Amino acid sequence: MVSSASPEVVVIGAGPAGLSAAAILAEYGHKVIVVDRDRFPRYRVGESLIPFTYHSLERLGLIPKMRASAFQKKYSVSFVQPDGRQSAPFYFHTRYDRNTIAQTWQVLRSDFDQMLVDHARERGVEVLEELTVTRLLKEDDRVTGIEVKDKDGHLREIHAAITLDASGKESFASVRLGWRERDPFLNKVAVWTYYKGSQRGTGDDEGATTIAFVPEKGWFWHIPQHNDMVSVGIVAEGKYLTRDGVRDLKDIFDREVTRNAWIKERLSSGTQTGPFHVTSEYSHHSRHCACTGLLLVGDAFAFLDPVFSSGVMLALKSGVLGAEAVHEALVANDLSASRFEAYGATLREGIENMRKLVYAFYHHDFSFKDVVMKYPELAGELTDCLSGDVNRDFSALWEKIREFAPIPDSLPYGVPAPAAA
Ligand SMILES: Cc1cc2nc3c(=O)[nH]c(=O)nc-3n(C[C@H](O)[C@H](O)[C@H](O)COP(=O)(O)OP(=O)(O)OC[C@H]3O[C@@H](n4cnc5c(N)ncnc54)[C@H](O)[C@@H]3O)c2cc1C
Repeated sequence: MVSSASPEVVVIGAGPAGLSAAAILAEYGHKVIVVDRDRFPRYRVGESLIPFTYHSLERLGLIPKMRASAFQKKYSVSFVQPDGRQSAPFYFHTRYDRNTIAQTWQVLRSDFDQMLVDHARERGVEVLEELTVTRLLKEDDRVTGIEVKDKDGHLREIHAAITLDASGKESFASVRLGWRERDPFLNKVAVWTYYKGSQRGTGDDEGATTIAFVPEKGWFWHIPQHNDMVSVGIVAEGKYLTRDGVRDLKDIFDREVTRNAWIKERLSSGTQTGPFHVTSEYSHHSRHCACTGLLLVGDAFAFLDPVFSSGVMLALKSGVLGAEAVHEALVANDLSASRFEAYGATLREGIENMRKLVYAFYHHDFSFKDVVMKYPELAGELTDCLSGDVNRDFSALWEKIREFAPIPDSLPYGVPAPAAA
């Protein structure tokens, strides 16, 4: 049931971006409704958190819940060559505080997102499940709410002072408003599944994320989770994965497993469970972050190739930043797009820094090891960016990395839409 009184804020999508924004706005005393087409708990990919997710979790008051959860603790990341040679793990505590940022988690998104739903409800948010948003409601250039359809096909309207689009990489609003732009280069395909009982590290290494390379700049993620489960997926160019006409997802996955000795060894003793999943990974962003009455958060604003596991950190950060900006706008009774200029610029700066590293990573003979061997003084900055401390001036780092790989200029997206003349 949709409550009769109109909310001040309606949010499309109950993922990390939408729920974090909703919880903070409700904490400020605003009336907030979140709608999602799914029934929770529901499956989602995006399971490895990075160290600087800590600040958003702390702002949301979620650290005690995370610490009490069953989620696998993550202390490090390492890289593995196709022949099985593994780099020494990078332990986050060698640079960050052991009791806060240096320990993060590998989550099961069904449980993590349910925790966020419960948390938002505790803060007073009305989370409505199994409602699909079908249309943005508009008066001239101002968004005034959404039209939703329930599972029996009934349509109804929810009006609000501001609508947050947190619909994930489907980007409900930016697609309909013609704002979505594809990244010119990042267009990978991912195929993934789960294993139970496969080999894993012990002690502090049990929850390590491993990036394991196959030829042609493809890579596996290996993310150990609780209950002895491992999330494992291959990411590469679609043409490479389907070479010689191989189309079946299991066949694609199994063939790549044979091309990395470490992955093959790890999975040899486990049991593959559940389906194989696939998604194309076109990275994209939105030309505008807002128009009057509408703000984009999370992947609905920009989706970046998942190689450095930055998605949930960015989604929570945009939810937190977006909520603060929306609260100020509601208090000022001014929901015009220009109020969100700083919000869009901050998100863009962070995403563009991460995107530069992603480009370098995919360059054919680039390796972070070569950069750090030649410029050991850059290791700290490189680690900070990879760990999610992305809103910094990294120009000295880019200058040196350009000796090893082309680095793209920042793209000019995320500015508020201009007001109609
Ligand atoms: C293959 C792959 C691997 C990844 N690995 C990682 C990783 O290891 N670590 C990491 O941090 N990130 C990872 N990511 C990224 C991560 O999944 C996302 O960045 C993150 O989920 C974004 O959160 P969000 O809240 O913006 O959107 P989502 O989590 O996608 O939530 C959006 C919600 O909106 C709802 N919705 C959409 N359209 C409608 C509609 N019309 N009506 C109603 N509801 C709607 C959906 O049901 C969904 O619940 C990965 C992504 C992919 C594709």
